[in-house]
Amino acid sequence: MSNTDRRLLTEAPKMYVHYCEEKGCEEWGGWGNSPSPAVATRWWCFEHFPHKSHEQEQALRRKLEAAERGDIVQRLLG
Ligand SMILES: [Zn+2]
Repeated sequence: MSNTDRRLLTEAPKMYVHYCEEKGCEEWGGWGNSPSPAVATRWWCFEHFPHKSHEQEQALRRKLEAAERGDIVQRLLG
């Protein structure tokens, strides 16, 4: 094993399996929040993440609205 390989192994990020903690949601929890290092991080998908900034909230709303419009267009076309 070369030095480069060893460094990659020891510095590889720990793999966590954490899905959104919202009941019934099966999205990947890519958004974590922990009030302090002593508190275990909790994870949510972007949609359910309760600590979004105002800008992030707006961006999500636009995305959802765009998706809704997309559905309507598809229904009209179909
Ligand atoms: Zn979720």
